[in-house]
Amino acid sequence: KQYMSDLERLSDEATQANRAKSNFLANMSHEIRTPINTMIGMNEMIVREAVSEDVVRYAGNIREAGRSLLAIINDILDFSKIESGKMEIIAVNYQLSFVIHDLFNMIELKAKEKGLSLVLDVDENLPSRLLGDDVRIRQIMLNLLSNAIKYTNEGTVTLRISGRKEEEDEYILHVEVQDTGIGIREEDKEKIFYSFQRLEETKNRNIEGTGLGMSITTSFLRMMGSRLQLESEYGRGSTFYFDLKQKIVDETPVGGLEHICYDR
Ligand code: ADP
Repeated sequence: KQYMSDLERLSDEATQANRAKSNFLANMSHEIRTPINTMIGMNEMIVREAVSEDVVRYAGNIREAGRSLLAIINDILDFSKIESGKMEIIAVNYQLSFVIHDLFNMIELKAKEKGLSLVLDVDENLPSRLLGDDVRIRQIMLNLLSNAIKYTNEGTVTLRISGRKEEEDEYILHVEVQDTGIGIREEDKEKIFYSFQRLEETKNRNIEGTGLGMSITTSFLRMMGSRLQLESEYGRGSTFYFDLKQKIVDETPVGGLEHICYDR
């Protein structure tokens, strides 16, 4: 290969090294997931069959540890897929109420355990079926909600979903996650979107995290033509929000929360 300059050669080498790192991460995290899943599965058998209370408690700890390990591995896998350009957005026909229902189920307990109130403010007139990547949308909202709970010690976490029809078959979803938590300093606002970056590490050392969630979330949104926005007051709380364009499949209103969250 002919190089025009040393600089070009160095840049080429750096790109190749970075690609090798991403591939390594992607392969490793894939290989690690299989045995973790086996361990979690077998541990479930122990939970079910154990008679001793102590054993059930130990197995419960294994379950928790297994889940957080899996979450970390999944983040690393997503991150390396994004870096190596292999992450794809796959649009499918999905039911909005399922997304909200699942999110509610995943975070309700976490909020309760921390003594936080969880408020869902969902516009009843949202279209019931849309076309988009519901898997990534869930992941984005779950990341924002998990952070809101993680970085809030008292008060309320609110999920707001509203929207508006843009064209004949296009809908702009507006999603907001608001917390009354520790907040983010003006000068730190940019930093939270960098990978592996965590704020105030000393103060937050007891809070589990890799610093990948926000970077993944912003990448997913960018891939879907959107942008994450943030308003925050240090010591008072933060609001993360974004607008997301989806195609309307069925305009029938989703209906009320009693129906979405409790009626199944
Ligand atoms: P982590 O795994 O550390 O939570 P994220 O990438 O999800 O990583 O977030 C990056 C950093 O941004 C966090 O370590 C935290 O310092 C800050 N952060 C994210 N969400 C919030 C929030 N709702 N309130 C305050 N700080 C937040």
